[in-house]
Amino acid sequence: MTVPVGIEAVAKSFETFQALRGVSLDIQGGELVALLGPSGSGKTTLLRVVAGLESADSGRVLFGDTDTRQLSLRDRRIGFVFQHYALFRTMTVADNVAFGLRSRPRRERPSEAEIGKRVAELLELVQLPGLARRYPTQLSGGQRQRVALARALAIEPQVLLLDEPFGALDAKIRKDLRGWLRDLHARTGHTTIFVTHDQEEALELADRVAILHDGRLQQVGTPDDVYDHPANPFVCEFLGEANRLPVRVVGGQAFLADRPVYGGLTQNQAGAGALYVRPHHLKIVDDAPLAIPGVIEHLRRNGPLRRAEVAVEGLPKRLDLDLTSPVAPAIGERIKLRITHGMLFAAA
Ligand code: ATP
Repeated sequence: MTVPVGIEAVAKSFETFQALRGVSLDIQGGELVALLGPSGSGKTTLLRVVAGLESADSGRVLFGDTDTRQLSLRDRRIGFVFQHYALFRTMTVADNVAFGLRSRPRRERPSEAEIGKRVAELLELVQLPGLARRYPTQLSGGQRQRVALARALAIEPQVLLLDEPFGALDAKIRKDLRGWLRDLHARTGHTTIFVTHDQEEALELADRVAILHDGRLQQVGTPDDVYDHPANPFVCEFLGEANRLPVRVVGGQAFLADRPVYGGLTQNQAGAGALYVRPHHLKIVDDAPLAIPGVIEHLRRNGPLRRAEVAVEGLPKRLDLDLTSPVAPAIGERIKLRITHGMLFAAA
């Protein structure tokens, strides 16, 4: 069972502090949406409003056509997984997973045989079939979170809410679990809201990413949409590194001081602006129209790529660029750069 979720103009304050300032977001049935934003942006508050653990001051949340205020907490059928393992320490893995089913009123409760079968299926699904008799303290952090997910899935939730479920795990395990969760979602297809402050995690996992800042939704879109076409400088900088060039747009071209550096812009973008360019959108060229002359000042390793820092006359900050060629330029070398993709925002 899976439903669309409609979040309509939800506002929420804690005393005088506005944690959510009118957030609207439509999530399709079966979709996996990541709520992404810096600490304090309102992600958890929004998740708690959807869950019914917090009530909105105004606005509403719909599950399908039903206003969730008409539903009891139980009838909302939420599967919730938190950052910090909320497994019952005195129960085995199997009893943890069975908990939601055993807590149902007698007439809705499956038989013990059915519960046993369901638990075995779920442990298979989360790839922990041999661990049913273990206790939470005998599991790794990643295994515990998979048990927590199996427990959330046991009640056949309408909506799955995951609040930084991998937040307490180390980077390598987080990465493995991302792929694992993607596959699990493809198989189970629950409408899922995943809270994270990790942009890489959001971009890799989600069908769509919703970016929050200061209690306001900044942009919603597919990972490619939001990364390549950010709606504003905040989204652009939050999603990945970017060089910022102060420019003036005249006749469809962006000028850095009096040098044209980027074309293909429109008449209505004319005036002062900021051109944001990601490090992999700068290329070293022999010569080309719109090329920017500079000097390599620093070279360093950046994950799988090498990063060069290039000083450009008139720019206070060096430009970062990812080197794609196996032949690296030398420090001190004069080069020319071409912007292959830029994102222009009007000056504030
Ligand atoms: P984080 O990534 O740090 O968890 P978040 O984006 O999930 O951040 P929220 O937990 O939703 O942010 O909090 C948003 C703001 O609301 C924060 O400034 C927080 O201090 C405040 N806040 C949240 N819950 C309460 C509460 N019960 N009482 C008072 N203020 C609260």
